Amino acid sequence: MFFIFGINQKEQQLEFDQVVICNNCGKYGHITVWMTYSYFMLFFIPLFKWGRRYFVKMSCCGEVGEISKELGEKIAEGRLHTLAPEDLPFPDNQSKWHRCPKCGYVTGEDFEFCPKCGNKLS
Ligand SMILES: [Zn+2]
Ligand SMILES: [Zn+2]
Repeated sequence: MFFIFGINQKEQQLEFDQVVICNNCGKYGHITVWMTYSYFMLFFIPLFKWGRRYFVKMSCCGEVGEISKELGEKIAEGRLHTLAPEDLPFPDNQSKWHRCPKCGYVTGEDFEFCPKCGNKLS
């Protein structure tokens, strides 16, 4: 008698898609939600799962952050379809970003003029 067993880590994308202005890069991005968990396998049959953790990933800049288990579980059960800005694990950089009204260039620096098109930034 021998056993084939292992402990695996899995990543699963949840059904969630929200468009926001990204706190991290200042562009429009999609929030996607991912769940990771570990599971114990015996004879290639997953026996039990544990250690579920939930993450959000921004499509624009690839920023990843962890969200609370409560929120993650609600999303996994389809009971939550939008995340509030304060739910996101990214620091609020919104005020830090300047967007050029002319060409749409976004910069985190305090430029007086747009480095791309030379338009005056307010
Ligand atoms: Zn972003
Ligand atoms: Zn510009």
